[in-house]
Amino acid sequence: MDSKSVGIVGAGVSGLAACKHALDKGFRPVVFEADGSVGGVWAHTLESTRLQAPTTAFRFSDLAWPPESAREAYPGHRRVMEYIRSYARAFDLLKHIRFHSQVLGVEYLGATEEEVMGWDQWSGDGTAFGAVKGGGWRLTVQDLKVGSTEVFVVDFLILCIGRHSGTPNIPEFPANGPELFKGKILHSLDYSYMDDGDAAEFVRGKRVTVIGSGKSAFDIAAEVAKVNGAAQPCTIVYRTRHWLVHKSSVWGVDLSYFYLNRISQLLVHKPGEGFLRCMLAAALSPLRWAISKAIETYYKWSVPLRKHGMVPDYSFSFAMSSCLIAMLPEGFYDRVDEGSIVLRKSKAVGFSSDGVVLRDRNES
Ligand SMILES: Cc1cc2nc3c(=O)[nH]c(=O)nc-3n(C[C@H](O)[C@H](O)[C@H](O)COP(=O)(O)OP(=O)(O)OC[C@H]3O[C@@H](n4cnc5c(N)ncnc54)[C@H](O)[C@@H]3O)c2cc1C
Repeated sequence: MDSKSVGIVGAGVSGLAACKHALDKGFRPVVFEADGSVGGVWAHTLESTRLQAPTTAFRFSDLAWPPESAREAYPGHRRVMEYIRSYARAFDLLKHIRFHSQVLGVEYLGATEEEVMGWDQWSGDGTAFGAVKGGGWRLTVQDLKVGSTEVFVVDFLILCIGRHSGTPNIPEFPANGPELFKGKILHSLDYSYMDDGDAAEFVRGKRVTVIGSGKSAFDIAAEVAKVNGAAQPCTIVYRTRHWLVHKSSVWGVDLSYFYLNRISQLLVHKPGEGFLRCMLAAALSPLRWAISKAIETYYKWSVPLRKHGMVPDYSFSFAMSSCLIAMLPEGFYDRVDEGSIVLRKSKAVGFSSDGVVLRDRNES
């Protein structure tokens, strides 16, 4: 059997695992990575970024964490990057990666769109490389160092481009947009790309407002508060309250025992489930509700969410199943108490020449 070529876009953890797997299967992988290193999002993080999932859950199945990192349940980003690099080295993956190579476009070769729409099975006959002879993918790739563009043809394509890297997602402002503001506006992605020292200097002594209430917003506000203290408080403007909590265990029991095992999956309705599974999930829904309420009670008791008006409007179970849970930066609410961080709710924001305009601030 001839060895098929596999194009892989991205050299984060997914791209590296895909590359290793393709090699194991006897394929010829070529990985295109726009950045200059492996690691994806982990290559450009905030100074304070740590793992949120424990090392027992966040690991390659074929490479254990080194003992010194595994001792910490939630290692910092430098250890995470070292682990990812060691995976690439351990399986000799680097020689298959083309760095600074951005895939600008991909095009399927072989069947026409009409034919593909008529297929009942994946790839025409249910096999990975399909019934269509000569089928494949044409990739247009730009070398970001020299600016030249090259075309590659591969038999199979795997996209490992992640969700958080690459292009910042900036909303449209129908009126009073950022162009009115005379100060500096930065997306969290650009802030993460700065060296740690440069990021601290960038915010030092400045009036900083962070818009958003996800993990990055809270982390950045905590970093700004560390640099500027209460003398120059950092304001977080948020619309939605999320379950940002201080640890991933309740009364000493890890959340994974409640949500991330096969028995707990029986509590949840799933697409395409059979009649018995559906009945079981329905019968167990009071238990699911009780678990969610007990966990919410624990976090409301151990994190000052009520005091600061930060209790989310949705259930903890919903947050878990939608991957909306995140870890609070260390001592976050202490910084709110000391006045280094100010929390402001607003349904919408606009800009003026010297700041941010909040709308519906008093509505909840
Ligand atoms: C701050 C932060 C903390 C996180 N913490 C955790 C955690 O604790 N636990 C957890 O499970 N997950 C966590 N995540 C989620 C994270 O997305 C995963 O851990 C994982 O790193 C995703 O890997 P990936 O390979 O799928 O994507 P990415 O790491 O995003 O890698 C995608 C790669 O594709 C490249 N790429 C994209 N488009 C192109 C293109 N057109 N051409 C060439 N290359 C391209 C990018 O340059 C990038 O290197 C965190 C994410 C962030 C941002």
